Amino acid sequence: MQVDYEVIIVGGGPVGMMVAGELALAKVKVCVLERLKETTPYSRALTVHPRTLEILDMRGLKAKLLERGKPISTTHFAALDTRLDFSVLDSSSNYTLIIPQHDTEKVLEEWAKSLGVEIRREEEVVAIHQDQHGVEIEASGPNGKAVLTASYVVGADGAGSIVRKQAGIPFVGKNATFTAMQGDVVLKNPPESGAPSYFNEQGLVMIVPLPKGMHRVVLIDTERMAVPKEEPVTLEELRTSLLRILGDDFGISDPFWMTRFGNTTLQAQRYREGRIFLAGDAAHIHFPAGGQGMNVGLQEAINLGWKLAAHLKGWAPDWLLDSYHTERFPINTALLTNTQMQSLLFGSSEFSPSVIALRNMVSDLLQIPEANYRLATQISAFNVQYEPVGEMPSHVLNGRRFTELNLRLENGECQNAYELFHSGSFLVLHFGSDERLDEALDWSKYKHVHVVRASLAKGAANWHDVHTALIRPDGYVAWAVSQEESNPLEAIRKGISYWCGHD
Ligand SMILES: Cc1cc2nc3c(=O)[nH]c(=O)nc-3n(C[C@H](O)[C@H](O)[C@H](O)COP(=O)(O)OP(=O)(O)OC[C@H]3O[C@@H](n4cnc5c(N)ncnc54)[C@H](O)[C@@H]3O)c2cc1C
Repeated sequence: MQVDYEVIIVGGGPVGMMVAGELALAKVKVCVLERLKETTPYSRALTVHPRTLEILDMRGLKAKLLERGKPISTTHFAALDTRLDFSVLDSSSNYTLIIPQHDTEKVLEEWAKSLGVEIRREEEVVAIHQDQHGVEIEASGPNGKAVLTASYVVGADGAGSIVRKQAGIPFVGKNATFTAMQGDVVLKNPPESGAPSYFNEQGLVMIVPLPKGMHRVVLIDTERMAVPKEEPVTLEELRTSLLRILGDDFGISDPFWMTRFGNTTLQAQRYREGRIFLAGDAAHIHFPAGGQGMNVGLQEAINLGWKLAAHLKGWAPDWLLDSYHTERFPINTALLTNTQMQSLLFGSSEFSPSVIALRNMVSDLLQIPEANYRLATQISAFNVQYEPVGEMPSHVLNGRRFTELNLRLENGECQNAYELFHSGSFLVLHFGSDERLDEALDWSKYKHVHVVRASLAKGAANWHDVHTALIRPDGYVAWAVSQEESNPLEAIRKGISYWCGHD
């Protein structure tokens, strides 16, 4: 079947743009269909977390976000008084970047466009059919109906995903039990401390400073928790709730955007159906606690992109494409559990003295550095470790996040290893001077693998014994072979052919 595109992405939100960019890096012919004329100015997400900053750094995008956002060294867990300390994480991205989703989307869209992605706005997808040869998409726009074809489709079309529905993938979990409110507003007399949270028997209030002198006010009012999500929020409602919970409305006025959201917690039963994949909110939704939804969506976009590209370019090993679901599904299951736990601490079931006592106890426990660190690595996604695959010798680095190594290259220059990922290739890092590496394989057959000989310019935990490591395009260690290995070249040969197939 002659197709118009190798991949069509439905939905040009942050996740769709990221998948599109990843595919375009690998020279895949890709098109994004987005129903909106332009990126919405109303930003749901405000936080970009450490691991997301790292992967964006690998694509040369972090600096662009830093120009528009404000770093803070902590994040919250269930709006408890003790915040999670990101500053202790082993990364130069050890902070939360406060940046409106609108700005993040703009950066991703510009990147995707610069790589040649075709973005068709004001095209709403209304029907999808797949067979063994390809996928046909019907889209409706100002110029009428269009029918487009592709080898594969990625549904990045948000919570109500038509792609998920048409693919017949069940969305499984729990419906909302309460709703919360949020307003991006002007506060004439804002609280003095930066981003305070308040919790009492009447409800919860969080206040976050925004650019341009605005503030985001998030509220759970015990008397408004049963209001349906669809009912618009009014300024008067926000003012009344603030007064009821705190006895102060902070001089609230001039709402830019107000919305209501619930704790619906659902996950797609599978992330792939034939030629159709799901990513981002199309695959999972949850109470937006701890600012994680967009972050995990971007992390799965980078997981999917290179695998789908590898398949389309013909070098992917058989198991690779399905590893998208295998790797990401359990991570998102844990995410949904995490946000449900936070909802309980947020008072989803009761705002009683015993919940207040529980919150105080958890908050106290988070003052223990190890406990704080444990949760910080969860929310930052630094704890993600993919199950090692292939018959490789075991190494503590296998499956782990690739940290930002400071390398000394053969020409004596130092380089941050993340800069070697701008093109989205695999990276083989060889430490030492084993001349036989060149003969181990016909490297010229592996155009998607970048081989670098280097030494560590600065010590890094767990790397001291590494002879050679293969780093995946999404920044996880596929395998590392130790200098103690009896036949390192044989292990490397096996590891490359298992992961990188052939051109
Ligand atoms: C109140 C609130 C606060 C949040 N705060 C945070 C936070 O601080 N940090 C964080 O990480 N996450 C946060 N989130 C979650 C975050 O906003 C989402 O996880 C993120 O937007 C998901 O991105 P996406 O690209 O998957 O989907 P979306 O952003 O929903 O994008 C989907 C796109 O698909 C388009 N589309 C839909 N249907 C069609 C169709 N049929 N045809 C064509 N186009 C279509 C839509 O117009 C949209 O542009 C928050 C969510 C809420 C509700």
